[in-house]
Amino acid sequence: MSKQWVYRFNELDAAEEYVGGSWDRVRSLLGGKGANLAEMVRIGVPVPDGFIITTEACNEYLSLGERLPDGLWEQLTTSLKAMEASTGKTFGDPKNPLLLSCRSGAKFSMPGMMDTVLNIGMNDDTVKGLIAKTGDARVAYDLYRRLIQMFGSVVMHIPDDKFEEVITRTKREAGVKSDTELTGDHWMAVTEEFKNVFRFHTHHQFPTEPYAQLQMATEAVFMSWNGKRAIDYRNAAGIAHDLGTAVTIVAMIYGNLGDDSGTGVALTRSGTTGEKRIEGDYLTNAQGEDVVAGIRMTKDLSELKVEMPAVHAEFERVAMLLENHYRDMQDVEFTIEKGKLWMLQTRDGKRTSQAAVRIAVDMAEEGLITKEEALMRVTPDLIDFFFHPQFDSQAIKDAGLNNKLLAKGLNVSPGAAVGVVALDADLAHLWGKEEGKKVIMVRPETRPDDVHGMLASQGIVTSRGGRTSHAALVARQFGKPAVVGVDDMDIDLTRRQITVGSKIVKEGDYISVDGTTGEIFLGKIETKQPDIKDEWLIKLLSWADEFRTLGVWANSDYPVDAARAREYGAEGIGLCRTEHMFMQAERLPLVQQMILAEMEVQRTEAIKALLPFQREDFTGLFRVMNGLPVVIRLIDPPLHEFLPDHVSLTRELSDLKIQLQHAPHLEAIDDLLKQVRVKEKVLSRVEVLREDNPMLGLRGVRLGNHFPDLTRMQVRAIIEAACLVAKEGGDVRPEIMIPLTSHVNELKFQRELLETEAKKVMVEQGIKLNYKFGTMIEVPRAALTADQLAEYAEFFSFGTNDLTQTTYAISRDDAESGFLIEYMVHGILPENPFETIDHDGVGELMRIAVEKGRKTNPDIKLGICGEHGGEAKSIALCHKLGLNYVSCSPFRVPLARLAAARAAIEAGK
Ligand code: ADP
Ligand code: MG
Ligand code: MG
Repeated sequence: MSKQWVYRFNELDAAEEYVGGSWDRVRSLLGGKGANLAEMVRIGVPVPDGFIITTEACNEYLSLGERLPDGLWEQLTTSLKAMEASTGKTFGDPKNPLLLSCRSGAKFSMPGMMDTVLNIGMNDDTVKGLIAKTGDARVAYDLYRRLIQMFGSVVMHIPDDKFEEVITRTKREAGVKSDTELTGDHWMAVTEEFKNVFRFHTHHQFPTEPYAQLQMATEAVFMSWNGKRAIDYRNAAGIAHDLGTAVTIVAMIYGNLGDDSGTGVALTRSGTTGEKRIEGDYLTNAQGEDVVAGIRMTKDLSELKVEMPAVHAEFERVAMLLENHYRDMQDVEFTIEKGKLWMLQTRDGKRTSQAAVRIAVDMAEEGLITKEEALMRVTPDLIDFFFHPQFDSQAIKDAGLNNKLLAKGLNVSPGAAVGVVALDADLAHLWGKEEGKKVIMVRPETRPDDVHGMLASQGIVTSRGGRTSHAALVARQFGKPAVVGVDDMDIDLTRRQITVGSKIVKEGDYISVDGTTGEIFLGKIETKQPDIKDEWLIKLLSWADEFRTLGVWANSDYPVDAARAREYGAEGIGLCRTEHMFMQAERLPLVQQMILAEMEVQRTEAIKALLPFQREDFTGLFRVMNGLPVVIRLIDPPLHEFLPDHVSLTRELSDLKIQLQHAPHLEAIDDLLKQVRVKEKVLSRVEVLREDNPMLGLRGVRLGNHFPDLTRMQVRAIIEAACLVAKEGGDVRPEIMIPLTSHVNELKFQRELLETEAKKVMVEQGIKLNYKFGTMIEVPRAALTADQLAEYAEFFSFGTNDLTQTTYAISRDDAESGFLIEYMVHGILPENPFETIDHDGVGELMRIAVEKGRKTNPDIKLGICGEHGGEAKSIALCHKLGLNYVSCSPFRVPLARLAAARAAIEAGK
């Protein structure tokens, strides 16, 4: 006996048994569309009878060199006989013909697969039989001409225009506007002309034998699996090539039998807002794709309630049934034949991030899914999208209706961007950076020397490339909305324009790019800022807080950021970088004075002058974070970052010397000489401080040990501020953190220094405060000797940016615009280690540090403050490693709360 290649809709149990139960594998075997049709039959939804030819049959067909596998045709004929029995119609019977649709459907819905062919079984005999049976020549010939048109364009690749031209001419000659006004005679004439079009383009007669039609259509679906567009899409989207497509054969339902018939599409909830309200469009007296094809103005589904109340009620019942069964919002296709509703497709509906959040929350509150499921349905990505600027959904709808959709590609980096087209990186840079225009850079593809243009752009579009192309990686890296792989787009670099079909965009014209959906529109589309106060998001995040065990803190240097972080739900400040405070206008001269000082007294004076500023900064932070911990890191960056750079100093000096030669009088000479002396002094200091590898030079804890006064001043500022806020009645929890420690003695030395100063301040202030002392772990040696460090530290915070740099010996700034991207494009590195923690290397160092640190001090508090602390996969790793908290940018706090909850749920399974 040959394998079972064909499953009838009512044989779902057998298919399930064959694949071993799992729904995922049923979908692999029957395709998403076929599996869901069979499932609908099983739960009693009205679906026309039909059967599915499996993906295995497709794979076998292709591996046999395009030959139908043994037994397939016999099985198909048997299934068809069963359908004839159930429908009471016979395939090819002129008196009472059964007509079929032939539909493709892989496990994942994907473009490039063969389109559906409707009305298979129509021919010169059945058309007459239908007329005799129904007395309606208009319907019969409309069905027939549709078959020739779809079969011709879809199976035989005749351009559809050739058919549409005939219809347009016929309407013009008949003096009518809409297809539905054409009579039976018109359609009969169109049918004859279609046969000619068919013969002209294929050099064959249109196949009138129903079984021949069915076989050709089926084989065409199989072959479309290996069509160029399908292969390109799978490559770009990372879908396996060996899945194959199924073919679903369904008995035709006629939506074109008059005003009590029709066809439509609907979502069981709003895909834009998530509101619990069926949303859809339909057309009366229409078939198949008429609704989406935009031939006629569609009606809103609410009108169906007026036109056919019973059908509308039935539709609502079925929609509810499907939602309850699939426990998710469904996207459905239906057809009404003479007042009876038939469902033709259902699948989980696409939705915006807003809708995804609301639907998950509502469904959990309705009791349809659990809170855990709601949390697992909203991926951290969606929360990320939630906070990106987005296009106004009404504006997008209008743009679509006004034919403003230019093209669609792969949505590789979310967000909305509007700007003028620049066709190369230099122009994008010139317009974007120097002239301050909003630019969208459009290229066939991008290379490392295009990065400056990409950075100057609002968004990026490429006609080639996939999800891991250079353009996609760079765009995601820098948070630029991007769409890649827009094959339909032809970029003409000599004429400086883009063509898509008949639409032309000149360089300098506005376009709007939706990196979330992959759509590109002509002109400017309004954007809007998302709302953190969204009721459903707040609820979802509060559920996340119930499940997560990781704390979520934020990195903030200023009180305003800290306030935002708190509003977003942060439970502490995990990193306050004090050096940012040094960069501000009034302070920089003091910092420079401190660095340039030749004598100790000068330095001490400058440092003293900085003290009130620092105190003020910390006071603000402590007030905002009342009752929560605030981790303050002592100065970290190399000193030269606070000084003018060498090249510009030399240039300024030589300018001054030239002026000196032309100085008009003594006074001017004196003045210039003074300036020269100052500059020379700065220059000589800069030269002394210059380092070949500043990243590995005098920075971090080394700086604190080199200038103990600096540490003393910072500690004094922190403790004085804490005392001040404590006196106001505040609950202050300062934690002082030492950066870049690699040897325990560095920490020991700093700790002694710091404790002495802190004690002194508390005595002066007459208050005793609790504060914590800890270190960052951002050097492999620190991780490996964490047991020693833990003797002197009450907490560790993983600085995974530097830890990644020092583990890989890669300088991030040099790498990310250069070879690192190349490494990812070529798959040498699977992921950017600065985006997601490198599990095997950096992650292993962290694991060792956690283990050793806790061994010495079981109560040690462990956190992370590198950027990874706001990235979902890294957060999951932190959960697994047993850290106490993650700390990230205030904007990423909501995402981190969700990701931490998901990690906990995932681990608890
Ligand atoms: P797609 O994957 O592009 O949505 P479908 O296979 O769902 O293609 O079919 C295209 C259109 O034809 C849809 O509107 C669908 O409802 C309609 N259709 C498919 N099969 C039938 C049928 N047996 N009777 C009536 N309409 C059908
Ligand atoms: Mg469909
Ligand atoms: Mg660091």
